[in-house]
Amino acid sequence: MIRPSASAQRRILLLGGTTEARLIAERLAGRGDIDLTVSLAGRTQNPLAVPGAVRSGGFGGAKGLAAYLAAERFDALVDATHPFAAGISANAAEAARLAGLPFLALRRPAWQPQRGDRWREAADIPAALALIGAAPRRVFVTLGRNEVGAIEAAPQHAFLIRSIDPIVPRLKLSDARYIEARGPFEEAAERALLTEHRIEVILAKNSGGAASYGKLAAARVLGIEAVLIARPKLPDVPTVDRVDAVLEWMEHLGSGHQAAPPARRGV
Ligand code: NAP
Repeated sequence: MIRPSASAQRRILLLGGTTEARLIAERLAGRGDIDLTVSLAGRTQNPLAVPGAVRSGGFGGAKGLAAYLAAERFDALVDATHPFAAGISANAAEAARLAGLPFLALRRPAWQPQRGDRWREAADIPAALALIGAAPRRVFVTLGRNEVGAIEAAPQHAFLIRSIDPIVPRLKLSDARYIEARGPFEEAAERALLTEHRIEVILAKNSGGAASYGKLAAARVLGIEAVLIARPKLPDVPTVDRVDAVLEWMEHLGSGHQAAPPARRGV
């Protein structure tokens, strides 16, 4: 529960594109003391609605973001982007430093294997394809539209590829089926999908969070292997791992560029 605050209005820029950023905007909707703007990259064709002010598109690197923060007189910056969005996270850390603003990152914890999971970890997509091997297999891919093209390097497999927006042009693969769908994905439906397509291995990012975990819960039950791309290196900055912790941090934030109490670094 957020306490009403008598302090002056705080202007906060929230870098989003995630469920968590949308939840923060929903929780802050209607608050007179926090003036939140959510920033989206503008890649998804029909992003889910976010309450309040939303802006879209890149800033032109860290310096561009720092200039935007100053020009728009923001009091603080929060990075709630996806854990694989390493470029914007690095820019955000640098921009907050340049602008001299309080800064917090929200990072959802990575998924951890449980008893019965058959997971292997790869540093990147080429390494993941090497683990999947040279022999043809039936592979379910959820890497996201921007990076999925790298699987063209392994045309021997039969791919089922799921993305939010259509992958256009289609990949240079002789055996690929495409599904367009937006999470959350429930375990039961994922089990049915994996069974229907006789999937042998899942190729995905270790994104963390509940919305896309269903496929891994289903894989555990079905005894299906998963090759997960490990998290990229992210900047060592004050970090929390829950939406509530971001809201709490905002409560202690001053207006006029006053510093908020530090969060733990690199959660
Ligand atoms: P990225 O590689 O880290 O960022 C590339 C560039 O896109 C950034 O340098 C920045 O351009 C712009 N950008 C990224 N996020 C932005 C934001 N929230 N607001 C304004 N500009 C942004 O990012 P990405 O991996 O392509 O992800 C793009 C967006 O999709 C992020 O907002 C992320 O939260 C969301 N997303 C990503 C994934 C994923 O797997 N990567 C999954 C789900 C959602 P400038 O340098 O010009 O400022």
